[in-house]
Amino acid sequence: MKFEELPLAQPLQRAVRTVGYENPTPIQEQSIPSLLTGKDLLGIAQTGTGKTAAFALPILQRLLDSGKFRQPKTCRDLILLPTRELAIQVEECFKQYAQYTAISTACIFGGVSDVKQKNVLIRGVDVLVATPGRLLDLIGQKAVTLKNVEFFVLDEADRMLDMGFIHDIRKVVGMLPGKRQNLFFSATMPKEISDLASTILSANPVRVEVAPQSTPIERIRQELYRIDKRRKGALLKELLSSHEEMKKVLVFCRTKHGTDKIVRVLEKAGIKCAAIHGNKSQNRRQEALGNFKDEKIRVLVATDIAARGIDVDDVTHVFNYDLPNEHETFVHRIGRTARAGKEGVAISFCSPDEEQDLRGIEKLTRVKIPEGDASVFEKLPPPQKETPESEARNNRGRLPKRSKEEIRADWKKQRDDYRNAQKGGRDNRQVGAGQDRRDNRQNAGHSPLDGESRF
Ligand code: AMP
Repeated sequence: MKFEELPLAQPLQRAVRTVGYENPTPIQEQSIPSLLTGKDLLGIAQTGTGKTAAFALPILQRLLDSGKFRQPKTCRDLILLPTRELAIQVEECFKQYAQYTAISTACIFGGVSDVKQKNVLIRGVDVLVATPGRLLDLIGQKAVTLKNVEFFVLDEADRMLDMGFIHDIRKVVGMLPGKRQNLFFSATMPKEISDLASTILSANPVRVEVAPQSTPIERIRQELYRIDKRRKGALLKELLSSHEEMKKVLVFCRTKHGTDKIVRVLEKAGIKCAAIHGNKSQNRRQEALGNFKDEKIRVLVATDIAARGIDVDDVTHVFNYDLPNEHETFVHRIGRTARAGKEGVAISFCSPDEEQDLRGIEKLTRVKIPEGDASVFEKLPPPQKETPESEARNNRGRLPKRSKEEIRADWKKQRDDYRNAQKGGRDNRQVGAGQDRRDNRQNAGHSPLDGESRF
């Protein structure tokens, strides 16, 4: 099927041509005709299947057809999403598809000032993409009402529930007018989600189910480097410095502190990069992502959570700086490269304490990851000396947890030492006891700087 065969108005057909789509994806082919007739839809689909256009194009068509106009502080189409990144991404798609129409769009999400968002809403918008918290906040401030909503889309419903948005969603749904078209998307459909869907959708919604078009793992060239965790930064730097073809590189790291540390190492080497993780402000995250998409920076370092749902084309290399505990995550990570028939390389670093994760990943993917070129190790600086404390730290930089008994024994020892020092006379007590306590703390592996020195 071709897009021209779908009953979409010329401005929408033109926009589809401008963004370069030729044929509808399976979810688009299955959803667009029924949605154009005004039916409710239950879609079991993930990001990457083309689901945004599957709901955006028919909604835009119906907005054009309905002949109604937006009114101040209202919207005609409401799309709820769980995260700011996804909301921005979806609004961008709507903007692209509506570029040859007069349909207006807006996006509201938390974590930034609400002033601009309120100003946009004053005149009203056709399409409002929102995260639930900020939407309820602005409704509470009377910046917007939902009384004119004709189309309601709940996207990524399973993640909404995972993130604890169920009450917010119920509140929003309670404010919607009775007559409306509803679309409900979720990647999975456990009972809790289908119960929620049944409270939102009409009795017989159209049901569409599509599997994500994942990159076949055999198409990704993989390499493995077994390396001590303290030398991973040097190895990453060396590989990036000696391989110019690594043009658009995504580096995955388990921790927020770890991502910042990698950025510091790469920046020192003059490699343009940025980090995205949960502690970065929304503006910084968007800026980093935009610069990466536009190839103003070469490397984006991300935690799994920050990178979820983010869609970047043409990633040439994915690095697993740390191996993920959840083995499926590995498949999602490396699937960011080798998309749309392009070539892609995934390079994984494995420290001795990650061997078990490596075995789990190889078992899951049924691929034995070949070792990379070992000559690179010769170019690395010699490893720093291990101290007993750093050796004891796990790959999150944390000391192993001590049992209650160990902590109790430690305190008992400190107390006894203190009493002994007291018996040893006034002068001794003042100098000696303090010294003892410091020594004991260090012996127990907890330097006074522990909190600050972890990452
Ligand atoms: P989505 O699942 O909506 O996040 O879409 C995933 C990616 O597929 C986005 O980069 C879209 O631009 C792209 N896409 C959506 N529909 C089509 C299509 N019919 N042909 C080619 N690419 C598409």
